[in-house]
Amino acid sequence: MRPDALVTDALDEPAIGAVPAKTVYIETFGCQMNINDTEVVLARLSEAGWTRVDSIDAAGLVLYNTCSVRDNAEAKVRGRLGALKPMKRARPSLRIGIMGCMAQREKDALLKNYPHVDLVVGTDQFVHMPQLLERLDETGRVAATDFGDFEDRAWDAVREPGANAYVPVMRGCNYNCTYCIVPTTRGREKSRKPELVEEEVRRLIDQGFVQVTLVGQTVDAYGKTLGDGSTLAKLLRRLHEVPGLKRLRFITSHPKDITDELLDTMAELPRVAKHLHVPAQCGSDRILRLMGRRYTRDDYLRFVERARARMPDVELLSDFIVGFPRESDDDFAQTVSLMEQVRFGGAYVFMYSPRPGTPSSHLPDDVPHEVKNARCTHLLSLQVKHQAEFNSAQHGRIHQVLVEGPSKSDEAMLHGRSLGNLNIVFPRSGSDGADRDHLVGSIAPIRIDRSTGLTLFGDLLT
Ligand code: SF4
Repeated sequence: MRPDALVTDALDEPAIGAVPAKTVYIETFGCQMNINDTEVVLARLSEAGWTRVDSIDAAGLVLYNTCSVRDNAEAKVRGRLGALKPMKRARPSLRIGIMGCMAQREKDALLKNYPHVDLVVGTDQFVHMPQLLERLDETGRVAATDFGDFEDRAWDAVREPGANAYVPVMRGCNYNCTYCIVPTTRGREKSRKPELVEEEVRRLIDQGFVQVTLVGQTVDAYGKTLGDGSTLAKLLRRLHEVPGLKRLRFITSHPKDITDELLDTMAELPRVAKHLHVPAQCGSDRILRLMGRRYTRDDYLRFVERARARMPDVELLSDFIVGFPRESDDDFAQTVSLMEQVRFGGAYVFMYSPRPGTPSSHLPDDVPHEVKNARCTHLLSLQVKHQAEFNSAQHGRIHQVLVEGPSKSDEAMLHGRSLGNLNIVFPRSGSDGADRDHLVGSIAPIRIDRSTGLTLFGDLLT
């Protein structure tokens, strides 16, 4: 069942006071993995007879699916919890739960500081949400934060309708980058069996999805923990054969796990997107060492060469952290030069802030905020310049675009993604006025004729 089918006023449910008991309001913070975890929770709750509602006033249970990667996401959740206190006093039957990374990281502190919170559920235990809620009825308060494995169908999710579905294939991370809270909040790496991934992909195609994006913290490490020779390259080959699947993508990769086997497979399989999100984080070996990234600048540049030798049009996307402890002007200049050398198709730039419980939080946060800010602005404007130049070079080119639906900023346009994941927009009706909505979910040839910094515009090749 899809989430829209879960949003009702749930009049048939037995009521506690004026609010039906088995109604849930859920708010999600953070990354794609969290969005997917929410979809999994909704699937399990739906099977157990729960209904999703879109306001707290109509909910018997309020759930926050939390993120710990940056402080502001945690601060928002603390604010939400504080605001619920009077509501819980007025309506004691209201149950309040926290799940996700913050629940995993701060279980004891949350229980102590927020006595009105009933349920704290970690990053693996949420698949048992209905059972935990039954336990809550018996015991009054429940905390469940043990790490588990990928098991059977419990990880299937409900999804918003659309062209693309995200499918988690691995969870956790075995790297210990010194700034990152993920190994603490999501535990050790574990992969989902390929046959279970394939079953889910087949079901998604039956439901009308045409593109699948495989998701994992270090998705290119897929298979290592299965001990049966599984690799991401083999999984791509297997899924590529599923009838009806038009495009296959994966995010996010660690530079150390990008094998030649994976690059060869990407280059060979026509329905695999020529797109790699591989965070470089920084261009200075000294800082990469302090970050615990386990590769050098040269290793990264060699990866870029290996990828482009096989796929000249591959789109590379990176993340950067500026202002890591001890980052000097010279270190930053090396990040700038890495960006100049590679010319990424896209880049996310973050200012470093220490996260409690990570190794780097013990280093002095010694780059002043204004310097971090200036470095952040510098990298972003460089990226905008590179992207504008790249986009201008696309004018006249034809891209095979998987059409996703109407453009969010202009109803008169359709938008979609190229094989390299470029965002491409074109008119929703032809010059003869004919509607083109039937193209949603299919691949259409679009000739690019103009561009802005982030978007390419074109028209359908007829
Ligand atoms: S690879 Fe590093 S940054 Fe990425 S999730 Fe693992 S520890 Fe965090």
